[in-house]
Amino acid sequence: MFNVRIERECGCFKRSGMPTIKAFDNKDDALVEANDWAEDMNETFCRKHNFSVVEEGNDLIIKMGMN
Ligand SMILES: [Zn+2]
Repeated sequence: MFNVRIERECGCFKRSGMPTIKAFDNKDDALVEANDWAEDMNETFCRKHNFSVVEEGNDLIIKMGMN
């Protein structure tokens, strides 16, 4: 099982109603989703934060940084 997880929730994330974790059977699907998800947040959130994908074992963590 491969998880895509949100590391930290900013205000926009909480307001978005998005889940904080999504599980996948294979790593390719998880990687595609993680990149799409981060891109979506970069485009639709406040733009004060930026989101990037980092691999940690079987998990893909979406990290939050400040722009
Ligand atoms: Zn934000």
